[in-house]
Amino acid sequence: MPKSMSQNPFTTAAPLVPERPTLPKLRDTAKGCQACELWKRGTQTVFGEGTREAEVIFVGEQPGDKEDLAGRPFVGPAGWLLDKCLAEAGIDRKLVYVTNVVKHFKWEPRGKRRIHKKPNAIEIAACRPWLDAEIAVVKPKVIVCLGATAAQALLGKSFRVTQQRGKLLKSELAP
Ligand code: SF4
Repeated sequence: MPKSMSQNPFTTAAPLVPERPTLPKLRDTAKGCQACELWKRGTQTVFGEGTREAEVIFVGEQPGDKEDLAGRPFVGPAGWLLDKCLAEAGIDRKLVYVTNVVKHFKWEPRGKRRIHKKPNAIEIAACRPWLDAEIAVVKPKVIVCLGATAAQALLGKSFRVTQQRGKLLKSELAP
């Protein structure tokens, strides 16, 4: 068993997910999540944000430096780009739901900077119940995976961003 798993009482957030989840309940409970080691490194849990009426969920990899400090998803450079793309596509951000596969910022120090580090399979699996619960509450028609980590977490390891980027794929997660 990997060291990080043996040190942790949980390897999945599943036991923490409320029985009758709502977005506020999920967000509140996830604040105390320690299901993987990342809670020690991030400032706070950065839960998804948006309306439960959303027809589209945008899923990124994990919060970045700015998101970690603000406690909100997609408010840093990736958020500015997302806002620009949404504006160009004529989509109001207030009408969509945005979240990440992993809810804590994983980083390593480089001088005074905190540099993004890709979450590993254990962390992605541990955090997955939060994303599943968000999807179950919002029931989107479409899920947009922003990047390879999100796409592989939701569509499987065989997803290849170089070949399948921008394509509409069938999934049980959203009709
Ligand atoms: S990354 Fe996810 S599973 Fe890990 S501690 Fe944070 S909220 Fe919990």
